[in-house]
Amino acid sequence: KRAGRGQYRFFDQSLNSNSDIEEFHLEQAFADALRERQFVLHYQPQVCLDSMEIVGYETLVRWQHPDYGLLFPDRFIPMAERSGFVVPLGMEVIRLACEQLVEWQQQGLKAHPLAVNVSPIQLSEPGFCDRVRAEMERHGLAQDMLELEVTETAVLDEQAMENLNCLNDAGIRLSLDDFGTGYSGLAHLESVPVGKLKIDRSLISRICNSHDDSPVVSSTIILAKRMNLKVVAEGVETPEQLVHLKVAGCDIAQGYHLSRPIPAADVPHFHATFNRL
Ligand code: C2E
Ligand code: CA
Ligand code: CA
Ligand code: CA
Repeated sequence: KRAGRGQYRFFDQSLNSNSDIEEFHLEQAFADALRERQFVLHYQPQVCLDSMEIVGYETLVRWQHPDYGLLFPDRFIPMAERSGFVVPLGMEVIRLACEQLVEWQQQGLKAHPLAVNVSPIQLSEPGFCDRVRAEMERHGLAQDMLELEVTETAVLDEQAMENLNCLNDAGIRLSLDDFGTGYSGLAHLESVPVGKLKIDRSLISRICNSHDDSPVVSSTIILAKRMNLKVVAEGVETPEQLVHLKVAGCDIAQGYHLSRPIPAADVPHFHATFNRL
């Protein structure tokens, strides 16, 4: 490793994360990564269970690190949230998603919305909604080409609610992510203006066969329908889970059984092949 890079010691378990010096290096590393465009998006298809066609993609950020290789979000999002870096990183992700949408449109691909993950910290930033809208306008994109996946941590503060209502009024789609994990639950469902609910993988993984062996999942789907919400199941890994979800009335599925997240370059071919089957 080059000498300067040796300072990025943030994967070292022995690291004392309270040290000012280490925080400084971490901020440097994040800033360098942003400037050098080391963040890339991978795309996981979302498949409509009626038509079995791809109807959208979730974008998942990766850090193409010059020394550590491709890093998954679990390795850096928690630190980015603690340091506040998740705010500029989140805007970079939205910018990358917008750029990609424009590129695919120019290639003549049928337009499908992209779902982008948003941290609660971003939502609590004043002006977040305006920045997202401005980014979409700058790219000449219709507002409904973007969907924001929000996870409720504790209670959403006033600023977060203001942003959510502003985004919703602007026509940007909102979905409640990680439903059923304890972070996202019933309590807030009525007060948050979401149009979709994503059932967390931890619930889907309990479906073992095509019988109704997961009353929580089927009840969640019924509840969502009662509230006029679309339901997405994430982490679908087996054909049995897919059948169960379809029978239970789930609208959209996502998971390794359908496709892993793939790089942008693979999307056009994958999309055409999948939807022709
Ligand atoms: P998530 O929002 O729950 O995203 C789904 C995660 O499950 C992704 O992991 C995805 O690759 C993985 N996954 C999808 N299908 C399957 C499956 O069938 N089986 C299994 N075992 N896993 C599956 P990934 O890409 O590592 O992302 C992890 C988390 O990082 C995401 O969880 C999300 O909360 C966060 N994240 C990803 N991208 C962003 C981003 O741009 N901004 C923010 N703030 N958070 C992000
Ligand atoms: Ca998500
Ligand atoms: Ca999430
Ligand atoms: Ca999840």
